[in-house]
Amino acid sequence: MPQNKVIIAGGGLVGSLAACYFAKRGWTVEVYEKRPDPREERNHGKRNLRSINLAISTRGLSAINRLDPEVEKKTLDIVLPMYGRMIHNLDGSLNSQQYSVTGQPINSIDRGRLNEILLDVCESYPNTKIYFEYDTESFDYAKKTVTVKNSKTNEISVASGDLIVGADGAHSTARKYLSFFARTSVEKKYIDHGYCEIEMKSHNADFAMKNDHLHIWPRNTFMLIALPNLDKSFTCTLFMPWSQFEAIETDEDLMAFFKTYFPDSIPLFGEELKKEYFTNPKGALFYVKSSPHHYKGNAVIVGDAAHCTVPFYAQGMNCGFEDIEVLDKLLVEQAAPLIDATDAVACKDVKTNMLTPEQIEAALINYSACRPNDSANMIDLAMHNYIEMRSNVNNLSYRIRHWLEGKLYLVFPKLVIPLYTMVSFTKIPYSKAKKQWIKQTNAIHSLVSFATKTAIFGALFFAFKRYAPTNTLKFPSISEILSIFKK
Ligand code: FAD
Repeated sequence: MPQNKVIIAGGGLVGSLAACYFAKRGWTVEVYEKRPDPREERNHGKRNLRSINLAISTRGLSAINRLDPEVEKKTLDIVLPMYGRMIHNLDGSLNSQQYSVTGQPINSIDRGRLNEILLDVCESYPNTKIYFEYDTESFDYAKKTVTVKNSKTNEISVASGDLIVGADGAHSTARKYLSFFARTSVEKKYIDHGYCEIEMKSHNADFAMKNDHLHIWPRNTFMLIALPNLDKSFTCTLFMPWSQFEAIETDEDLMAFFKTYFPDSIPLFGEELKKEYFTNPKGALFYVKSSPHHYKGNAVIVGDAAHCTVPFYAQGMNCGFEDIEVLDKLLVEQAAPLIDATDAVACKDVKTNMLTPEQIEAALINYSACRPNDSANMIDLAMHNYIEMRSNVNNLSYRIRHWLEGKLYLVFPKLVIPLYTMVSFTKIPYSKAKKQWIKQTNAIHSLVSFATKTAIFGALFFAFKRYAPTNTLKFPSISEILSIFKK
């Protein structure tokens, strides 16, 4: 029986999840990945510039669950739940802020191990082949071909399929070629800050800090964060302006900097701090928004290839995984229009490998109708959250709003949902979450302003009544009072 074939460029987190989905739906799958197989012993421990660990939350887990609840279970077996932020103040005091009033956590997971789980699942399907150490050099989306180069032999060959999926990450070649075919708008912006990862080893075979929190040392224009690992270490990341990185040239500069801003972390890092800081790579931070994400029924870009974000909402991979869940639903809708494509169980056995080019195109048109907008809004939220994490979390007004939103959510869960909850613990589209957040923030501001004015007015009223000589001072009329509120 003929079946559709997909060529996937990139076998990272999103590419490998996409491969699993297409394989499950009966497609012939070929994945081309430029790196060597990360599961082979000889490749262990090679440092990737991307983060060692990352936070997976509802959107990411939902996409894995739809693929197979057993794979989600395997994933959850290797996570460390983080229920809140642990703020490290300059004076060494700690302050825990829960992520969710209902106690939901985000989960720290090892990037490499998650990738390995997905590669294993992908290869468990007989209709899948992963080619490691193959560079996808160029794409002809009209002919549905990809030119690949074996980096060990330098041999060039051409792979062809019914659909090309570009999942080759932030510096995507697939995205570059898409712009030659589909009049793609691309916005790329570097921010003035970079990052450096520093390992905090375990102490006496235990975690150096509480392991059920994401630790943050917010210092207004920069911050240090730490996520726990299963081996009881923490991967810490220092985010700060490049000028600050450049100002630290010697061991003494580094220690003076840490003594001033992160004094409580020095004994936790120990002597390793200097080596880690000076030998580990410093990474640039940028975002990419692009639209559309597809060309006819021939090609689609997903994950960081389509939308690369700054990492401050921990949503890059989560959003990429959601891309694959959405794409699957849209393909299932074409293959089995009578089945509810949002119901993972109902469409468990649906195959999408017999779709016509027109049906694939219809699915991709619907895909580009939602994902570019949603991922662009996710990026906006991540840019906003950088300021929140490094600075606002310390403000009294932020803490009051955070508390108030939480309480209102418990009483009116449909009316007010904290932004963090919408982004991390629901699958509300990012664009809708951003709109709702703006609306409810305005409402809360009006409410707080009304309450403040009422309190001031009440205090004045009682002061008048208590202290003013009754014959000389007149209490304001109703219209005068209303004019105060209009201001
Ligand atoms: P990648 O993971 O970059 O994978 C792309 C793959 O394509 C790679 O394997 C690469 O080798 C391969 N490739 C590239 N070019 C070619 C080519 N020409 N030919 C063949 N193969 C190629 N996201 C979260 O959800 N939560 C977090 O907590 C989080 N923290 C982060 C912290 C930092 C510091 C950073 C930088 C990012 C973080 N992210 C986080 C974002 C997350 O890392 C990315 O969104 C995610 O890795 C995207 O997956 P991807 O598969 O699209 O791209």
